[in-house]
Amino acid sequence: MNCPVCKTMLLRPTKLEPGFPADRCPACEGTWIPAEGYRRWRERQPGDLPEQTEGTAALDVNDTRTAKICPACGHILLRYQVGHGIPFILEHCGQCNGVWCDRNEWETLKERGLHDNLHQMFAGTWQRQVRQEERRAALDRRYTERFGKADFEELQRLKAWISGHPLQAEILAYLNDPDPYEA
Ligand SMILES: [Zn+2]
Ligand SMILES: [Zn+2]
Repeated sequence: MNCPVCKTMLLRPTKLEPGFPADRCPACEGTWIPAEGYRRWRERQPGDLPEQTEGTAALDVNDTRTAKICPACGHILLRYQVGHGIPFILEHCGQCNGVWCDRNEWETLKERGLHDNLHQMFAGTWQRQVRQEERRAALDRRYTERFGKADFEELQRLKAWISGHPLQAEILAYLNDPDPYEA
């Protein structure tokens, strides 16, 4: 199998985890994860590891975004955002279900406890959540631009306070009224 990034370089068999065969490129250090290898490894895991909010090591990820062909079956690999604050994309073959990870992408997922969710990442539910996250982040940027960082933070704090308050409606009416002391 040839590396989908380096093209002429051959992938070499490796073990991603004990008993988890994969193929790694000696040049770009990207890893091809065959669906079967992942499935068997995942089945042996006791459960879904909890997601970690932050990784400890800042791994040197090499996120290549050039179009790639599946090294196993020749279909085009589709790009997917991982979401959950992961800045890189993964590439997935819809035909054979294999996954391409660039250098240190698997290791980063592992640090965040997301590597055992690989089988969910390319499906509708996960991807819908990713798009929701993106929409939210875009809106946050717009609000920050409009109100300024400090005022937007104050607004968020106020909103959180009001939304949980038993007198929410009265507080909002008070705020909205130009002269709440007028009868
Ligand atoms: Zn390579
Ligand atoms: Zn394939």
